Parts: sequence; C-alpha cells; structure tokens
Amino acid sequence: EDDFPQPVEVPKDKLLGGLLPAGFDERSCLSRYQSVLYRKELPHKPSSYLISKLRSYEVLHKRCGPHTESYNKTLEQLQSGQRASPSDCNYLVWMSFSGLGNRILTLASAFLYAVLTNRVLLVERGVDMPDLFCEPFLGVSWLLPSDFPITDQFNSFDQKSLHCYGNMLKKNIVGNSTGFAPLPFVYLHLVHDYDDQDKLFFCDQDQSYFQKIPWLIMKSDNYFIPSLFLIPSFEQELNNLFPEKETVFYFLGRYLLHPTNPVWGLVTRYYEAYLAKADEILGIQIRVFDTEPGPFQHVLDQILACTMKENLLPKINQNEPIIDPSGNQKTKAVLMTSLSSGYFEKLRDLYWEHPTVTGEVIGVYQPSHEGYQQTEKQMHNRKAWAEMYLLSLTDKLVTSSWSTFGYVAQGLGGLKPWILYKPENRTAPNPPCRRAMSMEPCFHAPPFYDCKRKAGVDTGELVPHVRHCEDMSWGLKLI
Ligand code: GDP
Repeated sequence: EDDFPQPVEVPKDKLLGGLLPAGFDERSCLSRYQSVLYRKELPHKPSSYLISKLRSYEVLHKRCGPHTESYNKTLEQLQSGQRASPSDCNYLVWMSFSGLGNRILTLASAFLYAVLTNRVLLVERGVDMPDLFCEPFLGVSWLLPSDFPITDQFNSFDQKSLHCYGNMLKKNIVGNSTGFAPLPFVYLHLVHDYDDQDKLFFCDQDQSYFQKIPWLIMKSDNYFIPSLFLIPSFEQELNNLFPEKETVFYFLGRYLLHPTNPVWGLVTRYYEAYLAKADEILGIQIRVFDTEPGPFQHVLDQILACTMKENLLPKINQNEPIIDPSGNQKTKAVLMTSLSSGYFEKLRDLYWEHPTVTGEVIGVYQPSHEGYQQTEKQMHNRKAWAEMYLLSLTDKLVTSSWSTFGYVAQGLGGLKPWILYKPENRTAPNPPCRRAMSMEPCFHAPPFYDCKRKAGVDTGELVPHVRHCEDMSWGLKLI
C-alpha cells in the first residue's frame, strides 16, 4: 500500500531511451516528442554506442552544416572547380528521387553511410521534403541551401556524367597513380538500374578513394544498408552500433523522420477518430503493381485467405443473422491503405453483412484512395506519409510484396509483417502470405560481387545476418 497518490499516466520516455536529443522547441514539431504517446513500449533499446555516435554526429553537423565557416570554405573550393585539398568537413548530398517510401529508405541509408564515414548529410529539398519532415538536428538545418552552386547540374546527373563514379572508373579517371588529384565532388549513381562499375561503391578499395572527396552526391531509390554490412571496414562499427541487426531502420527512422505538424495532424486525428478505442488494430497495406487499376478479385481472395488462415481476422458466420452480443464483444479496427477503395469496401461490407464466429466486432477503415501515384501534389504526399505512419501504429500488420511503402510502416513500427506474396498470372498465390523473418526493409538491387576475389558471389549467403528477402528472391535484408 502506498499513501501517496500515483499519477494515472506514467510519464513516458519521450526521448526514446536517449535516442532523441533533448532541447528542441516542441511546438514546431509536435510529433518528435509526442510519438511515444501513440506507440507501444519499445521492445528494443538503442545501444549506448549508437546514442553516443548520434550525439557526436550532431556536433559535427553543427560545426559543418549549412552557412557555417567550414561549409563556406569547402563551397569556395567547389565553386572554383579546384582539385580537392583535405578539409575537416566532408559532405554527403542526398538527392530527392523516386516515390515517398523509397525516399524514406534511401534517406536512412544515406544517413547511416554519412555517420560511418564522418560526413555531414545534406538533403535536397525536392518538391516537398521540408513540408513532410521536421529538422532532425538541433540548431543547424539538414536541408541543402537553395543557392548550392551545382544544384542546376543535379537534373543532368546520370551514369554517363563526367563525375559519375562508375563512369570515372570506365574512363580510368580513378587511378592509384599520383597523376590525378581527387575531384571536388563525385556523383554516386545507386539507382536500381546501376551497372557493375557503379556497384563497386560497395567495395573497400573504392571506399578509400572516396575519403579524399569532400562532396559526394548520391542518387538512390534503394535501401542499401544490408550491403554496407558486407563491407569489411564498416563491419565492426556496424556491429557496435546495432547489436540487434534487425533494428537498424527502426532506430534510424525514429531518430531521423518526424512528421511535420500538418502530417502529424493527419495522423493523430485519424488515429483518435477511428483506431484509438479498438482492442486491437490490424493494418493491411495493399499495393498492386499492375498496369491496370483494379481492384482485382484475386487480390481480395488473397487478403481474405491470408488474414483468415493466420488468424488475423475472424471468420464470418454465414448462417446466423445475428449473434447474441453478450459474448465476446472485443472490437478490432482494420486500417487499410491502398490507392483504390475496392478492397476496403468489400472487407467492410463482409463484416457488416455477417456476424463473426467469435462475436468480435470488426470495423474497417481506409483514410484515402488516391487512385494513382501523384508526385507533385502536396496533400497527396502528406497523406502517403501519414498513412505509412498510421500503419506503423498497428498491433499486427499485413503488407504487400516489393512495396517500400509497407517497409517503412513495418520498420518504424517494429513489426514483423505477414507479407502477401506477389500474385502471378492474376491468381491468388498459395500459400497467400508468410511471416517476415525481421522487420527490416529489403534491398531490391544488391550487388553480387566479391570485391577481394573480383568474382561473382551470392551475397545472401556470406553472413548469417544478411539473407535473401521473403518477397524478392534476389533482394537482401538484415535479420
Ligand atoms: P512503393 O512504390 O510501394 O515501393 O512505394 P513508394 O512510396 O515509393 O511509391 C508509391 C507512391 O504511390 C507513394 O509514395 C504514394 O504517393 C502512392 N501510394 C501508393 N500506395 C498508397 C496508399 O496506400 N496510400 C496513399 N495515400 N498513397 C499511396
């Protein structure tokens, strides 16, 4: 017994076990410290090494970030086109490229690479980056200044560019000989269509060349972290940072990606209105990679087969018009996301027209049905981000194969999803889905190259914690 009244609400750990720094203005980005109110208790804790590494990154960012003295100095060099001389500040510029799910995954990848190589991450604004994400570092912006001298060249960067690393290798510009002083910047093409030379980015020899380049400019649409774990010079550091390998995106995402207030409004209003009161929340993320819009019967069949077989949703009772409500009155909220409304309507009607065999009450909700992917519309991407975030707040999650949208949700939520297999020839696969091995995203376009032996190798067979993905046989993921 205790004579002192206890507070009803135990103050939660808003800094996520030291992952987040204290001291931000709370109102300018409510999600940063409020996210903990909507999330389940962290099943994993960040390592003290990760925390100290993040704190020292923040110091570096503050010293070298936009418009600091060091930044201005390295800019002069870039502008004059001089050959590089050693600088105490080196940079990684992340180019805004591809769909929002892809962008989130590449941003986390680029940040980890920056941390590993003591570079300062600067983010190209694109159409909407500042509209979607809060500043993650205290005091100094992570956004690439609009007057950055070579932004007008960004659009022309491709595999054939003079500064593209793969192309430089082809043209023998990267020599070990002293004849070539390093360039002030190098463009790294890590897009899914990259070739064998571009892929040498993942080799130690090539990494040592980059150490002399003050500006690296990176374009990617892939979660390339699994292959960083296969680079010998990064191995020990990564082990120290992430003793639990499957928590990489989980921690990086929670550290780096905070929805801006408009997006946070979309998240919290929806959550409070439709999800908060349910006993359990099931997320179902439907992404159909088909040229025709759908909805398709085989996809609906697959959703039902998976959720019933895995006991994620109760079966319906076809014979009874009503079940005595005195029984199990648990409510389950199903949060669906999809570009189309067809699957949601079918599932909602199913549980309206029939009772469940368990007596559970099932509510089915879908925030939007945008029809098709739209890149330039502000509200479209806000909703996409809000929906990924809402999915990450569910208790159990079903995702679609190959979708980075689903990867973001599972990773941020710390959830091992049930993955719906990719349908072939418009038929529902059997089995319809399987449980993921880990909550990590899949790297869709990994290299299959042994840098030491200079020969092909199955990179999914080298170490126990980097394996082929459940949903893409040639992909790589951390487990
Ligand atoms: P991926 O193509 O599934 O890997 O995911 P991306 O996020 O990279 O690209 C898909 C884009 O399509 C998203 O960024 C959204 O713009 C849109 N989109 C796809 N599915 C949904 C959805 O369920 N809800 C919303 N609001 N947008 C979606």
